[in-house]
Amino acid sequence: MENEKQQSICEGYYIIKTLGTGTFSQVKLGQKGQNYAALKFFKQGNEEMQLEQFNREARILSNLKHQNFIKLIDCNEQLKYTKKNGTTTYKMGLILEYGNNGDIFSYLKYLKKFDEPIARFYLCQMIKALIDMKNLNICHRDLKPENILFDDEYNLKIADFGFATEYQGLINDFHGGTIPYMAPELLEKREYDGSKVDVFALGQILFIMMTGCFAFQKSNHSSYKLIKEKNHQQFWQKMQNQLKRELPDNFKDLINKMFEYDYNQRISFEECLQHPFLQGPIANLHEIKQQFRDQKLIIDKKRDQQIYRQREEIKRQREEIQRRQQIEREMQEQMGNDSTFKSSGQDNSNQEKLKKQKNKLMEKYKFNFKDQILKKSSPTQMINEIVTCQERESLFIQIIQIFEENDRITKIHKNKYKLDVDILDEESDVKYKIQIELCDIGDEMLRVDVLNFGYDPIDFNQTLDLLRQKIQEQQI
Ligand code: ATP
Ligand code: MG
Repeated sequence: MENEKQQSICEGYYIIKTLGTGTFSQVKLGQKGQNYAALKFFKQGNEEMQLEQFNREARILSNLKHQNFIKLIDCNEQLKYTKKNGTTTYKMGLILEYGNNGDIFSYLKYLKKFDEPIARFYLCQMIKALIDMKNLNICHRDLKPENILFDDEYNLKIADFGFATEYQGLINDFHGGTIPYMAPELLEKREYDGSKVDVFALGQILFIMMTGCFAFQKSNHSSYKLIKEKNHQQFWQKMQNQLKRELPDNFKDLINKMFEYDYNQRISFEECLQHPFLQGPIANLHEIKQQFRDQKLIIDKKRDQQIYRQREEIKRQREEIQRRQQIEREMQEQMGNDSTFKSSGQDNSNQEKLKKQKNKLMEKYKFNFKDQILKKSSPTQMINEIVTCQERESLFIQIIQIFEENDRITKIHKNKYKLDVDILDEESDVKYKIQIELCDIGDEMLRVDVLNFGYDPIDFNQTLDLLRQKIQEQQI
């Protein structure tokens, strides 16, 4: 009987759901007996690069033994993956310890900020793990709240070593990362000390944990210039005015030192541990668990509400389609074969208009629906996903139209329902890239997947909400 419940299986793990989709990977939750694991599958792309990245991430993870890093359970260039329909493929992937209480970012989204003793507790956990990593001559280079997970007990687990590297001396061959967390030497493409770029990113994380906002969007913007020029007093005045509250002096002092422009002068992880801010009251796991469990209930409840709303919306759309079809049928029956009767003159002219718009866009972006293949995917029920039962071609056209103004579309992918869009952050005049793809999730439903490439996560969520709203507005 059990076997009738069709599930994909990978190396003995039943695939339960998708945990997250990153730039380079898709991460799924797997269950083997009582044990859970996160299976990180690398996306198909440049094979050589993919293999190099896989090897590096696997090697680095296997060297990191500290309890606050996600552990590597297994890895293979060819993990055996049997799909629901019985076909078998082989995927390059890592089997990782499961961070089952989500990431810091989801908590910050609802809590806005952490109480100071909680922020201190987590800062301390991160620093100790990062000292351990530094002693192995490894740097992470993509520390951010989305990559920091919680385990059962709400201990931190640092994840995503996709940008991590082993290093000796200064580095000069890679200047990537996620913009708000990138130290000035990375943005200015200078050589850098791997550990000190991690200190800088951790400064931004500490700032977010204590305030709920970024200290600056990019370390070459005006707020950061104040720090660069050692005009700390003005920087904090500005911040406190924005936040409408005073911040503790020893917190401000530590942040000043973590954001130091000259990385030789920037505080080290070891020095951070000795800093007065870390000597203050510190939360214990029991208190944290109590506070966060309530929060997890809220997060789960919001997710359930969203799933419920989506289901209701889809039900409404289906009923509307059936109602229209019924009216159409009745009209045709009434009119018999009278071909002169134009029951839906209005509809016809609308359809003509839509067709013209569609043709215009296909010509402009040089694609044709005959060649487009819709990606198949399983339902994920993530909190932010956009699900609809609109017809695929008109939905794709609609999304193109949403981003068409100001020529923000940079690419429509060949043979896919996928497009790249540049978003201009008007405040900072920086362009960010997002990628949108339609997926068929079965049951006549489509999901609009939106990938974020370095865009401020809070602004990105707003863009996502706007897109969701526009798509829903257009639905019948
Ligand atoms: P990025 O876009 O950040 O470079 P990536 O492709 O390197 O992403 P990860 O950050 O490792 O991938 O994973 C993507 C998402 O999957 C994470 O943000 C997280 O939500 C989820 N995830 C990854 N690893 C785990 C894990 N061990 N346990 C639970 N969730 C995980
Ligand atoms: Mg990540």
